[in-house]
Amino acid sequence: MKIKCDKCEHTFKLSVPSTTTIDNDIEWTYFTCPHCGEQYSCYYKDRKVRELEKEKERWVKQTKNPNLKKHAIEKANQIQKEIESEMKKLKEKLG
Ligand SMILES: [Zn+2]
Repeated sequence: MKIKCDKCEHTFKLSVPSTTTIDNDIEWTYFTCPHCGEQYSCYYKDRKVRELEKEKERWVKQTKNPNLKKHAIEKANQIQKEIESEMKKLKEKLG
């Protein structure tokens, strides 16, 4: 995936983004333009998002259980929506 920097118009290949912890236990994942150092946000995760992800993971494992499969898929999808809405809120708040 190639990215064009909005600031210096340098085109670069997107490598693995960096993750750092910012205030209130929020994990910020971003990448940096190698030419001018401009930082671009990918996403933010707070404690709530990370807990939701763990919960989703548990339901995803349950999808292997034939008796629970349908319910587990519904639950995992529902939690995924919560995660997305939470991450969207964080991005709107933090930029
Ligand atoms: Zn740049």
